[in-house]
Amino acid sequence: MKITDHIKKAKGKTLFSFEIIPPVKGKNIQELYDNIDPLMEFDPPFIDVTTSREEYVYIDRDGLLDKKLTRMRPGTVGICASIKHKYDVDTVPHVLCGGFTKEETEYLLVDCHYLGIDNVMALRGDAMREEKYFKPTQGGHSYAVDLVRQIQDLNCGNYLHDTVETDNCADFCIGVAGYPEKHLEAPSLKSDLKRLKEKVDAGADYVVTQMFFDNQKYFEFVDAAKAMGIDVPIIPGIKPIAVKRHLQLLPQVFRIDLPQDLVDAVDACATNKEVRQVGVEWCIQQSKELKDAGVPVLHYYSMGKSDNIRAIAEKVF
Ligand code: FAD
Repeated sequence: MKITDHIKKAKGKTLFSFEIIPPVKGKNIQELYDNIDPLMEFDPPFIDVTTSREEYVYIDRDGLLDKKLTRMRPGTVGICASIKHKYDVDTVPHVLCGGFTKEETEYLLVDCHYLGIDNVMALRGDAMREEKYFKPTQGGHSYAVDLVRQIQDLNCGNYLHDTVETDNCADFCIGVAGYPEKHLEAPSLKSDLKRLKEKVDAGADYVVTQMFFDNQKYFEFVDAAKAMGIDVPIIPGIKPIAVKRHLQLLPQVFRIDLPQDLVDAVDACATNKEVRQVGVEWCIQQSKELKDAGVPVLHYYSMGKSDNIRAIAEKVF
């Protein structure tokens, strides 16, 4: 079922959902299930599964370093299928521009369609680790909006190199990313919102936001998006702080601000166990306020660990 239909069906009730990361190549999928199991009690209508970009690894061959391109956490679509099958829940694979040609994307979408996956999240992806800026893959897309257009074309039976007469057209519901504190490369929040509007005009059905720790930023973002004519659901994505290092890491990687009260509370912690508790309590307060404001879904970035998300969901849902 489409995310937008889940939201309609909920008739104003805030839904619970979360995002997971595929295991590192070669690791057992059981650990993933062990972290999903405790969250199923909160009835998520959908679970997102991220896609990682390819990266270079250096292999020592008799003293000479061989540079190889690899994907450390493959298996997004397979994991989506296995979770859907095991838990009878909708899954949302993240589909990236970076690292994929348009043809590879088409085949991935065909696989998703055959597997009964109704939703996809269309993203550009970040720059590769050793690159400063995002470089489009040869034969791939430059921006998420181009990917949204490809998916919409496929929904109409227009494949890359042929138009197919079919009684079994895909009808993907498309999610895209939004940034309450603007995307790190965007010159201004307004220009970033214009780009978001382009994605919605191209056929995106809903938006999931980057994490934020100050709800006011989300509320202002939603108001600004509405004023610009963006009328699809904007799902807040949030995450509890878990370790002290997040104070530096999250602003550095995502260019987001942390409220001073949260910084002070984390700074005052002697151990990461205490930090985890502060993170959970902050996220509970954020969640309660967002729920009271009537957000359609509270979407949690679990980073593969469920204990803190469960502690939050127990107090909120
Ligand atoms: P875009 O919408 O293409 O925007 C990228 C930048 O380009 C923005 O600054 C925008 O303002 C600008 N822009 C857009 N269109 C144009 C244009 N036509 N001309 C000039 N500038 C333009 N990354 C992963 O690798 N894997 C994941 O699974 C993943 N999941 C995510 C889930 C969510 C909810 C979010 C918020 C992010 C996720 N990301 C993921 C990170 C995402 O890939 C990065 O933030 C990436 O840098 C931007 O992706 P985008 O889809 O927002 O890009």
